[in-house]
Amino acid sequence: MLKKLFQSFRPPVPGQHHRRTTPEVINKSQHSLQRHQFSRHAVNIVERLQSAGYQAYLVGGCVRDLMLGISPKDFDVATSATPEQVRAEFRNARIIGRRFKLVHVHFGREIIEVATFRAHHSEEDQGDSHRSSHNASGRILRDNVYGTLEEDAQRRDFTINALYYDPVSERILDYANGVHDVRNRLLRLIGDPTHRYQEDPVRMLRAVRFAAKLDFGIEKHTFQPIRELAPLLREIPPARLFEECLKLFLSGQGAIAFEMLVDLELFEPLFPASARALEERPTYTHTLISQALNNTDLRVKQGKPVTPAFLFAALLWPALPGRVLHLQNQGVPPIPAMNGAAHDLIAEQCARIAIPKRFTLPIREIWDMQERLPRRSGKRADLLLDNPRFRAGYDFLLLRESAGEETDDLGQWWTDYQDANDSERREMIRELGSRDEGTGAGPRKRKRSGSKRKRSGGDEAFE
Ligand code: ATP
Ligand code: MG
Repeated sequence: MLKKLFQSFRPPVPGQHHRRTTPEVINKSQHSLQRHQFSRHAVNIVERLQSAGYQAYLVGGCVRDLMLGISPKDFDVATSATPEQVRAEFRNARIIGRRFKLVHVHFGREIIEVATFRAHHSEEDQGDSHRSSHNASGRILRDNVYGTLEEDAQRRDFTINALYYDPVSERILDYANGVHDVRNRLLRLIGDPTHRYQEDPVRMLRAVRFAAKLDFGIEKHTFQPIRELAPLLREIPPARLFEECLKLFLSGQGAIAFEMLVDLELFEPLFPASARALEERPTYTHTLISQALNNTDLRVKQGKPVTPAFLFAALLWPALPGRVLHLQNQGVPPIPAMNGAAHDLIAEQCARIAIPKRFTLPIREIWDMQERLPRRSGKRADLLLDNPRFRAGYDFLLLRESAGEETDDLGQWWTDYQDANDSERREMIRELGSRDEGTGAGPRKRKRSGSKRKRSGGDEAFE
């Protein structure tokens, strides 16, 4: 069945009931949007393009989010002007992209993305590989076929993303019954879902992301083909998947997104080794990853900074012990086994999701810390405290413990050590000397009482 899907490329089959050739027009009095809610720069761009004789609208996430009372992340403009024509209108404009040619108009730190109306691909277009091309499974490789406003609406992914707001007339144009779906909190792909996923499998991840972020349901036909088509994600360039994963996990609803990815079998093509760990040790792996994502979600909601390194360290950690053990069974000593396993695991993961070096390095450091935190004798504990990665390593240790890993209460020891004064610290180290130090194992009396347990939820780990 899958093979057949891979091979078949059918022309687009637009959804019967949500294709419109004339839009539904929602007048100012019929919706809640107000032009001052949109970025002033984006509104200026639209006005400028319209007065130059082009069609131009605010479109996509910003219209959708404002209708839902969410403040938009960015503002996208769609226009009948070609990228070159847009660039000619603005001094601060740059053409970017290959797969999608777009114009970025810069206003200080704000960038407004201006996209030319695009059409669906017809079979004839495929002869012209500069403008449009597909691979054997129907995936769009290049997409620069310009079209009308109506065509632009039809090639967008979800109905709720195909709403066009004109800040001049203050009307919304709706070609795909998006307003209805916004009001019913439903994600619905425009056109034939299987075909639209084959065209761009990342739309499956976008379905999860929007459902999680907006707390929307996924309409039955949009939902139904996902499990079967999930393996198509393996064809997506790893760099694009990295970007998409960040959006999935760092947008404030990462824990829910993770549940959905697993349920829809989209997790395996993204994180094959972690998916295997999830099968082999379901409770532990699930708790560790969910806990890390819950912490991240909390930080996002509090407006604190987050970095992907801690999260990827957690996502991959459950896949590590099996590999270390495997190497040790082949006679590799513990530390080189750990290093070798960590290296291989990250290299394998990067073949799927291109995690940049600036994140893979801290992942390794967080993992290395897990080896070092049990070894505290002499000056080691103080040296570790001074290590710039200490906080991330310590938070990661607490995370492991919260997932049920047995560490002989090492996290509490480090919590106490950070709270202790100099003489208390010396005493704690002396106590270690009388025990089987070096592994963190062995019974230990707790002297300090009333110390607060600091389960910070990974605070400084992200800074
Ligand atoms: P947000 O910016 O909040 O993540 P968004 O909907 O604006 O959400 P973008 O990735 O900024 O998402 O894309 C802008 C618009 O471009 C979308 O609303 C959608 O109409 C269209 N779009 C983006 N990606 C795709 C895709 N893969 N297939 C079809 N249309 C897409
Ligand atoms: Mg957007």
